[in-house]
Amino acid sequence: MEEIRTGVYICHCGLNIAGTVDVGEVVDYVGTLPHVVVSRDYRYMCSDPGQDLIKNDIKDLNLNRIVVASCSPRMHELTFRKTVENGGLNPYLYEHANIREHCSWVHSDRKLATSKAKDLLRAAVMRVYYHEPLVVREVPLNPNVLVIGGGIAGMQAALSIANGQQNVYLVERDPSIGGHMAQLDRTFPTLDCSECILTPKMSDVGQHPYIQLLAYSEVEEISGSIGSFKVKIRKKARYVDVSKCVGCGDCSRYCPVRYVPQVDGRGNGSEEA
Ligand code: SF4
Ligand code: SF4
Repeated sequence: MEEIRTGVYICHCGLNIAGTVDVGEVVDYVGTLPHVVVSRDYRYMCSDPGQDLIKNDIKDLNLNRIVVASCSPRMHELTFRKTVENGGLNPYLYEHANIREHCSWVHSDRKLATSKAKDLLRAAVMRVYYHEPLVVREVPLNPNVLVIGGGIAGMQAALSIANGQQNVYLVERDPSIGGHMAQLDRTFPTLDCSECILTPKMSDVGQHPYIQLLAYSEVEEISGSIGSFKVKIRKKARYVDVSKCVGCGDCSRYCPVRYVPQVDGRGNGSEEA
């Protein structure tokens, strides 16, 4: 295995980090960790001069692992991966430590914040040791969408997605979509008639060319991962020929199940035979 040569860069973020964390002490500590060849600090690591520091060190010191301790990875992990790539390294030989949101911003005791920053850095240095170069590859994705639950939220989600010309499977366990909102008279805060909001959406869902409505059905199994989920859905028996049903409702007179139009404090209705 090649010799692991790690460079660690600790950002002050002005006083955002340096105001609470003793950056100099952290730099010295990190310099003593195994495989760390260089440990530096800089006022603003995400600036061009900050990124140049890393790129130059990769070349000059033959670094093959990089750690940056700064803000949240949501903010700048990609920035520094790109820096590492531009410096000639695989971008995944990089580890990010968040010593701003997870440390300086949430602690006021300088001693403890400094000690926590050292812990976060030690973990990052140990972790990056095991990183391997990764290659981005593209795989085909199934863009179809499954929405579970045909209440107002599920219907609106299905309509918004379907209006973007994506196929949507909308699964509802009850015989009809509508959910709890169908049991309400008015809705807060405008006191609009809930049926007036609901029924046009129910109709849109039923007629939308990109929505396949699976009412009176339940999701039994989900496997796979993003882009290639496999979902098993059980369609409950209808006891009528759905293709011939015109929705006249006459059969409901003979149905032994009666719906009690009452809602409890949580908006739940109930059925009784
Ligand atoms: S890298 Fe993050 S923590 Fe450092 S200066 Fe930029 S925004 Fe601030
Ligand atoms: S009676 Fe009307 S609602 Fe019931 S199954 Fe026949 S067509 Fe459909």
